[in-house]
Parts: sequence; C-alpha cells; structure tokens
Amino acid sequence: MEERLQKILAGRGVASRRKCEALIVAGRVKVNGQTVTELGFRADPVRDRIELDGKPIKSETLRYVLFHKPKGVITSVTDPQGRKTVIDCIDLKERIYPVGRLDYDTSGLLLLTNDGDLTNRLTHPSFEIEKTYEATVRGLPRQEALESLRKGVLLEDGMTAPAQAKLLRAARRAAGSAVIQLTIHEGRNRQVRRMCEAVGHPALELKRTQFAFLTLGHLQPGKYRLLNDAEVNKLR
Ligand code: URA
Repeated sequence: MEERLQKILAGRGVASRRKCEALIVAGRVKVNGQTVTELGFRADPVRDRIELDGKPIKSETLRYVLFHKPKGVITSVTDPQGRKTVIDCIDLKERIYPVGRLDYDTSGLLLLTNDGDLTNRLTHPSFEIEKTYEATVRGLPRQEALESLRKGVLLEDGMTAPAQAKLLRAARRAAGSAVIQLTIHEGRNRQVRRMCEAVGHPALELKRTQFAFLTLGHLQPGKYRLLNDAEVNKLR
C-alpha cells in the first residue's frame, strides 16, 4: 500500500512532515537506490528500501489486527463526512488498512494490516476465503429459501456462488424474525444483505462471525487484538 514519501518518513519519526518534504527536495532521500526529489512520489512503506543520507530508515513492523467492528463505524481510513472510522478505533502507530469491508451497519470480525501482500491475497477472489455471517432476517425462512441461498441467487450483478446456509434460531429477539448463518467466499458489495432480500427475508441485523479460520472469540464490539505468529502464518 503506497503512501507519499514524506508521510512515510514522518511516520517513522524522521522529522515533521514539513521537514521531511524539505529533506526530499534537498535530494537526501533515496527509494530503492534512486534519489527522489518529487514531493508527490509514493512508495510502499513495507517493501521499498528507503534511505536518508545513505542510511536506511527504521523499517515498519508488520501488524495484523483482529477487530470486532461495532455498528455505526465506517470501514475506511478517512471519511469526508466526518464519521468515525475503523482506524479511529485502533491505537497503533503503524498505518494499517482494512482487509475488505463491512457496511456501516454491519458488526463483526474485520482484519486490518499494513501487509499489502497478504491483503491482496485475502481479498483476491481466486483465494475464495470463506466468511461467515449471522443475519437476523425478517420472517421465518423456509427450507426453499435456504436451498436458494445454498444454490446461488440472482442478484443484479449476476448469480452468487453456492453458499452454506442454515437456520440458527427463530424469533429470538423480535417476533417475526429469525437468525440464519451464511458462509460465502465472494465479496460483492452488500452481498449478504442483497442475498437475504432476494429470497424474501431482508436482513435486519448483520454480523460477521468468522473470516477464514478466525473467529471473534470473546472479543467485545469496539475491541481488538493482534494476531499471533501462528495465526499470521496460517493466513499466509
Ligand atoms: N455483506 C453485506 O451485505 N454487508 C457486509 O457488511 C458484509 C457482507
């Protein structure tokens, strides 16, 4: 994930952003052996070799965060409307980015990292990473509705791939609602909500409970933890 060179330098504690710009313009910064004097230049803070006066700047630690995103938080790094973002909820000095996204009104498991290679792999459709959701839906889905979800439903952007779908419980909180568990490996925009709607049971609440082999465990909404080495290696 590329960033402006002055931002990377400032983030590593070299100097203020303004002073880092002056260092770049003065020709004191090299990226992969090439002097860069252009202020718009973008580099990858993890992969690129950045030097100041011929000495490498401190390398960035790779971070892998498992976050229980609450509802009402936007999966974005910044928000022009000033809403709270997932980044605002995480107190790390490294600049991390969400792996995929959850809607503003969706809660649940969201990974964030500064490892761009891993992000690319986890979000690339060919890797078919499974994601499990619990959807509180209107009405009580019959077997036919669940079977449609399993086989694939027609959305405006085409048929969905086969999914796993089961009824978890009926009418627990709100009468006339039920909770279904849905596991998909695609990542289309608002896919689960659209699938539920397509079978006649709009989602009232949506929570992601699993991403690949990772689950929320006892993590409360708004809380996060770092993945351990074994988890990171398994994701790779
Ligand atoms: N599907 C949705 O509809 N929303 C999400 O946030 C994630 C998957």
